[in-house]
Amino acid sequence: MPQTCHSPTPTAQFDVVISGGGMTGAMLAYRLLTQANARPLRIAIIEQTAAATDDAKPTASFDSRSIALSAASLELLHDWGLWRDLKAHACAIKQIEVSDRGHIGKTYVNALDYRRDALGYVIEIEWIGDCLYQKLAPFAQGEQPRLTWLRPDALTGVTQQQSLVELTLQSGVVLTTSLLVLAEGGDSPSRALVGIDCSRDDYQQTALIANIGLAPAAANSAAVTSAAATSAAHQYKAYERFTKDGPMALLPLPQHRFSLVWTTTPERAAELKLLPEREFLAQLQHEFGYRAGEFISVGNRVVYPLQLKQAKQASAHRVVLAGNSLHSLHPIAGQGFNLALRDLQALSQLVQQHTDVGSYALTSQYQTLRLQDMQQTVWLTDSLVRLFSNASKLVAFGRTIGLTLLNHLTPLKTAFAAQTMGLTPLRAQQQQLRLKPEHVKPDQAAPDPVAPQSTSEPSASEMS
Ligand SMILES: Cc1cc2nc3c(=O)[nH]c(=O)nc-3n(C[C@H](O)[C@H](O)[C@H](O)COP(=O)(O)OP(=O)(O)OC[C@H]3O[C@@H](n4cnc5c(N)ncnc54)[C@H](O)[C@@H]3O)c2cc1C
Repeated sequence: MPQTCHSPTPTAQFDVVISGGGMTGAMLAYRLLTQANARPLRIAIIEQTAAATDDAKPTASFDSRSIALSAASLELLHDWGLWRDLKAHACAIKQIEVSDRGHIGKTYVNALDYRRDALGYVIEIEWIGDCLYQKLAPFAQGEQPRLTWLRPDALTGVTQQQSLVELTLQSGVVLTTSLLVLAEGGDSPSRALVGIDCSRDDYQQTALIANIGLAPAAANSAAVTSAAATSAAHQYKAYERFTKDGPMALLPLPQHRFSLVWTTTPERAAELKLLPEREFLAQLQHEFGYRAGEFISVGNRVVYPLQLKQAKQASAHRVVLAGNSLHSLHPIAGQGFNLALRDLQALSQLVQQHTDVGSYALTSQYQTLRLQDMQQTVWLTDSLVRLFSNASKLVAFGRTIGLTLLNHLTPLKTAFAAQTMGLTPLRAQQQQLRLKPEHVKPDQAAPDPVAPQSTSEPSASEMS
């Protein structure tokens, strides 16, 4: 969908400027523009890539990946009025099978055990892009648009003053805003402009992603009705399989397809990317077995080198970080964007609660809320990667016991499922947002804009 790009007047003033118009940035703009009972905000998005044409993706953020949306994320997208449009392109996950290649331990998570229709849904992210950009388009039109796109452009200077932030862009445009949100992805260059450090931990693994076509005959097992066979050969089942080189996931997609995330060594991923289709499918089948059926075709293959990146702070004076700019995770548990949606839930609700949307009260409360959730989700994801990528026989034995125990101990499994479905952290955040903290008065002034906030607030690393 082509976008309207307005040239702002010299030193145009905004309430919120979002740097990065990808999944996180565009979703935040949509949420802030549409949330009920909120005062109309003037928003700008700075995006480094040029405006899309009809045949191009909205930004590189919306590529050929698919993502698993957790039950908590579906709840948010439903409340935000997006789920009805997205659901048409999404596929339910009704069961997850977790297994360890070469070992007997296995666990199953079933939606029905939690009285749910689905544990989550899988969607190709280009649909999210199309949906968001279509919904944002009307806000960018008219004499006084509430949304201004500045693209292609990027921040070159950020000056944090007591009551506003002055932004200088590559194009020479100068803007002011009450709040700057960095949503530039994992390599966000503007973090450095506001003095926020980021830690990087290289997993020495690369994820190869592709869509896989499944033979409808795979559904011919006695357990499957003919109606289910025509609607979904994969029976809405997702598979997470751990191998010595890294985890592999198959997520069900509409039209007898799986979305594959194959994590392996960088060298093997480079080889797999270039293999002829038949050979690639044979290797995949060999690694995975026939539990998920027969793989008959593979779409575009793309590789992503994997690093854990964590910003040391979620906020600075009149600045907050969201999405991958704050946390880039290993895709093993499909938590990255789900975590980003909880960033946006916290931020949009705080914006509703504060008159000055860049106030110290808002940014400090955001930091407290988000670092807590981020630390727990990073810990869960990182522990799974390290536990399941370990080739030691002793560790493998422990994994087998762990998976078997998890399958039989209902309270443990329920707690694990509630965490991965995002329900535990979402409920905790909703509770904390209802109870406004007593130590920060609404719209309390910042101590000093030039003093880094880390002196009064714990950093991500201090909390771990
Ligand atoms: C293989 C893989 C599988 C995944 N699976 C899942 C899953 O199942 N579930 C899940 O929840 N998450 C998943 N994720 C994570 C998810 O894809 C990310 O969390 C999400 O894409 C992050 O979006 P973002 O907008 O924060 O960052 P990005 O997608 O990186 O977007 C950043 C945007 O900012 C723009 N930009 C960059 N620099 C600048 C600048 N200086 N100025 C202006 N604009 C700039 C970019 O052009 C882009 O538009 C997966 C990730 C990978 C790699």
